[in-house]
Amino acid sequence: MKLDSAIFSHLPVDTKAIDIVLEAEAELQDIFQSMEAIEAANQWKVLEAFQSENIAQRHFSPTTGYGYDDIGRDALDRVYAKAFHAEDAFVRPQITSGTQAIYLMLSGLLLPGDTILSVCGAPYDTLREAIGICGDAPGSLKQFGIHYKEIPLTLDGNIDIPEILEQIKLDPSIKMIYAQRSRGYSWRKAISTPELGKAIAAAKRQVPHILFAVDNCYGEFTETIEPTDLGADVMAGSLIKNPGGGIAPTGGYIVGKHDAIERIGHRFTVPGMGREVGSYAASYTPFFQGLFLAPHVTVQSLKSAALFARVFEKVGIKSLPGSEEARSDIIQSLQFKTKEALIAFCKNIQKAAPIDSFIDPEPWEMPGYQHQVIMAAGAFVQGSSIELSADAPIREPYIAYVQGSLTFSHGRIGAIMALDALIKSGEIA
Ligand SMILES: *Cc1c(COP(=O)(O)O)cnc(C)c1O
Repeated sequence: MKLDSAIFSHLPVDTKAIDIVLEAEAELQDIFQSMEAIEAANQWKVLEAFQSENIAQRHFSPTTGYGYDDIGRDALDRVYAKAFHAEDAFVRPQITSGTQAIYLMLSGLLLPGDTILSVCGAPYDTLREAIGICGDAPGSLKQFGIHYKEIPLTLDGNIDIPEILEQIKLDPSIKMIYAQRSRGYSWRKAISTPELGKAIAAAKRQVPHILFAVDNCYGEFTETIEPTDLGADVMAGSLIKNPGGGIAPTGGYIVGKHDAIERIGHRFTVPGMGREVGSYAASYTPFFQGLFLAPHVTVQSLKSAALFARVFEKVGIKSLPGSEEARSDIIQSLQFKTKEALIAFCKNIQKAAPIDSFIDPEPWEMPGYQHQVIMAAGAFVQGSSIELSADAPIREPYIAYVQGSLTFSHGRIGAIMALDALIKSGEIA
């Protein structure tokens, strides 16, 4: 069914933009239904995790100081473990970002002389200095004697399994295979969970004790299974993306095998203390509530992403994935023809935001990134990208990465406003 465009007559835009967006939406009804089926499956998975851990009001009490016997903290770990079908989990507001969660996963499990084999090409920009692939950041894995090797994705964007098998046969120092599910700042599709599963199974058949670690940022709840369902030893992500449901104010998580999570806990606090310490005076309520909402909010984002793809396909912009393609992350890549169009697009996403809509974002140098980046992020939680946001490194080809929206209604308004601005500027026909 197509919405009546009169509903949007109050928007300060041309009717042409409204018509294109509503037509795109009407064409996507079957796709939306399959996304809602994913939400239904994941909502049960999360609810079951809460119920089996008997989550109660007492888990919401704030704690202070060392946080001995912090039952909210420990229960949150157990709920995450259950929701991701993992043996154990480490979830903390004190993990400052997804990058730190991933860095902890690596630094907690690798020792001097070990090698990490990255199998989706170079890792996400902010991890390159942390690993020591570039720059000379103090305390990088490289400075601790941990080596790095990488295998690019195949030309059709898949993991090169034969090459992994070859490398782990030749080099016994490879202790960890590292895969990045989402695309980062590159023009490629996300790696689906079944595809990750194939790589995990093949690698473990050959070297059973090899660790398989996944950067799961942006992937959570976009499919009905997760990498941990298919044998990943550990995976990590950010709480201001999918699993925080737009409610968690900060934080990161790592889930996986019990021994691995224990080691990471000792790396995070103090060797010998591990996960026994750590308090949070602001209460863990938003982390529980955010996880509960995450399957729904993630699917709101997926629907918005498909809408952005369809709308801009209609006006001749290249999209990845295409509006009807399967998804394994919440990102929509749009490839604009000019730098001006790219910047105008991001500026108008900002204009559609509930917070800081009056701010005009400009490209700038950001810590951890190698290019100037423009970020449209008018979010309740600073930098949250489960909220409607768009960012783009200023380099060719001119790709905007759009993601999030707590509600599909908001995503739709964003699409209308961004399209309208581009039509008016003459950037697209
Ligand atoms: C966002 C992201 C990260 C890093 O997360 P931050 O919270 O921004 O530090 C790592 N990997 C991927 C694929 C991401 O999308």
